[in-house]
Amino acid sequence: METDALIAEDILPLTEMDPFMHLLLPLLFLLAVRVDAKKAILFAPLAILPDFDALFGLHRALFHSFIPILVIPLAFVVYSKLRRPEWMFGSVIALFYLSSHVVLDLGGVAFFWPFVQEQFYFVPEVQFNLQGGVNFNISIDYGMKELEEMGTASFLSQEGAALLLLGVLVLAVFHKEALQGLRTSWAVFRDFLAGVFRRWPFK
Ligand SMILES: [Zn+2]
Repeated sequence: METDALIAEDILPLTEMDPFMHLLLPLLFLLAVRVDAKKAILFAPLAILPDFDALFGLHRALFHSFIPILVIPLAFVVYSKLRRPEWMFGSVIALFYLSSHVVLDLGGVAFFWPFVQEQFYFVPEVQFNLQGGVNFNISIDYGMKELEEMGTASFLSQEGAALLLLGVLVLAVFHKEALQGLRTSWAVFRDFLAGVFRRWPFK
């Protein structure tokens, strides 16, 4: 039998992430390291914010560039340090969420836009074959490519769908804990809305 037949390709292709994965992965990470859940949930939308540059026809450039991803949140961190210590935690979480987006998009990001128009890509791949034991072959592909016009983005990728299925299974097993988590999330969201409306000029 040919060796090639036993090689499973593209085990870890980090080229395409859907909004669901962008939201879920960093949020789970923050919850796992026991960051204040309330703040982790409130700031989570920042993890998908960069993809809204697609609305301006500059997908993976306008909001994926180092200026919104690093410079602006770092300015907030410095300002918090100097003037508003109470903003520090939020600024650091914002920096984390925004950076996480670009890390998950490493299949192609115009990180130095508008100074460099090309996308940078960095794609580690893990392959394995079963020829004479289990062999792993790790390769890293990187370089630059043209900034492409945005095609149709997959809202739910293969990985996202697999995670969603896993989530449903976990929910089925841990439904009691999940219900409690849902109640907590709803309470956070409700308090947030109440806070917004309290300041709303109704009269
Ligand atoms: Zn993106």
